[in-house]
Amino acid sequence: MNPNYNKDPHKHPMPSQDPKVRAHNFDEVTLGYSAETAIEEAKRCMDCNNPQCVPGCPVAINIPGFVKEVAEGKFEEAYQIISKTSALPAVCGRVCPQESQCEGRCLRGKMPVIENGKPKLDENGQRVMGEPVGIGRLERFVADYHRVYAKKSAPEIKKNGHKVAIVGSGPSGLTVAGDLARLGYDVTVFEALHVAGGVLMYGIPEFRLPKAIVQAEVSGLKDLGVKFMTNMVIGRVISIDQLVEEYGFEAIFLGTGAGLPRFMGIPGENANGVYSANEFLTRMNLMKAYQDDSDTPIQHPKKVMVVGGGNVAMDACRSALRLGAEHVYCVYRRSMAELPARREEVEHAIEEGVDFQLLNNPVEILVDTEGTPRTNPHYGFVKGAKIIKMELGEPDASGRRRPVEVPGSEYTLDLDCVIMSLGTSPNPLIKDTTPGIEVDKHGCLIVREGNETTKDGVFAGGDAVTGAATVILAMGAGKIAAKAMDEYIQGKKA
Ligand code: FAD
Ligand code: SF4
Repeated sequence: MNPNYNKDPHKHPMPSQDPKVRAHNFDEVTLGYSAETAIEEAKRCMDCNNPQCVPGCPVAINIPGFVKEVAEGKFEEAYQIISKTSALPAVCGRVCPQESQCEGRCLRGKMPVIENGKPKLDENGQRVMGEPVGIGRLERFVADYHRVYAKKSAPEIKKNGHKVAIVGSGPSGLTVAGDLARLGYDVTVFEALHVAGGVLMYGIPEFRLPKAIVQAEVSGLKDLGVKFMTNMVIGRVISIDQLVEEYGFEAIFLGTGAGLPRFMGIPGENANGVYSANEFLTRMNLMKAYQDDSDTPIQHPKKVMVVGGGNVAMDACRSALRLGAEHVYCVYRRSMAELPARREEVEHAIEEGVDFQLLNNPVEILVDTEGTPRTNPHYGFVKGAKIIKMELGEPDASGRRRPVEVPGSEYTLDLDCVIMSLGTSPNPLIKDTTPGIEVDKHGCLIVREGNETTKDGVFAGGDAVTGAATVILAMGAGKIAAKAMDEYIQGKKA
């Protein structure tokens, strides 16, 4: 264990663009550690005998192992350790919720800060704790270093003569594709959109996850021989049964995500200027609607309300600012303590000027019907919203305190755009067009051990199974499915 741990109780800060500047551009917000800072940060690791960071990671990366290599300046060696368990470290280093995973369990963050030989106390007399090792920042550094400096050569892979299909090219699908291609399978990925990458391309904005990084991962898979068929909506263009019977795929992975947005069902929600976060972000990220020459331009709203408190809501708020909005409200019905977004994104949103209206909930979208052909509010434009204040009541089934309306507390906000970010569920298309596939009451695909669905030879993972979750969980599910698909095909052969 590093005896000098207390000399440096805080993480090395992440260099980032000035909030006033970055709130108006789409360039990446955080700039990454230099090699020197990465080494210094890695030296904060205590190389614990019982490292709690590892069980905190959903795919159990050998964190002390890779961090030790970074501390010694052996960055490529560190990359090789990470890549044994993680297929997308440059992505995960940027977007994983480390504070509730590896870093949340890191013992470095459980050590009191010592000052003048005594534990430092805060104004309430409580011990001040140190910060965990910046595991995510180090993972990002290592992956970026590898992308820029490593000598790349496509490995020699002996083909095994078996064909598999992957439906959906998000993190779960990309992981399955990589694992099976390395085992010699002939892998084809079918993607409904015109670009591969799933939410990494169409959801998470450029300023948080540059698209070139995602495309570098896709190119790496192409180098392994993986074929990508874009603009292919499986269940419409070709069915799952056709993939097997007519095209000879021996096993199929469904990584179709959870792209179906939810709405509140309140009056005025169909007015012009109300978007789902998915539509708003897809237009921005995939269709580059913020550029003047975009084929699919988007409204440039001035007063925006985003409803919700997850990562998607933060991305919508910050994208609206970058589009030129003068005021962006984030309306969330619980308090800051329950806000589910990554801490870093919330801090960045506050720095950039997002106005958090916590313990508030819209009850009606106010619609201006003037100049529209009919007085029906569906034909009007957003002019505001009626909001009610909330307070936290008794815990609900999820264990979180239920938000309850405060009678008579309604007020209005002037708005010209509303973005609903209330969560998503899986699209029913595959279930509706594939006999034998079963889903639960939330529309999520039902899987058993090895992530095999209720249909023989069809496997699934990621958000399509869990509902909207995280990149690392989707990747972990892909790893399990890839192993099971290999065993399934090899077992049939035996
Ligand atoms: P997805 O990434 O959803 O990809 C599914 C793909 O399947 C899509 O490309 C879709 O077009 C395709 N598809 C669907 N149906 C068909 C069909 N019938 N035929 C062919 N293709 C089809 N997670 C984090 O860990 N950290 C974050 O900071 C974070 N931020 C997020 C921000 C936003 C805006 C969003 C929307 C999500 C965020 N997430 C974050 C969640 C994370 O991105 C997802 O959990 C993850 O991408 C799920 O991966 P997946 O492989 O299951 O599917
Ligand atoms: Fe290092 Fe923290 Fe893991 Fe301990 S728990 S090995 S300090 S990263």
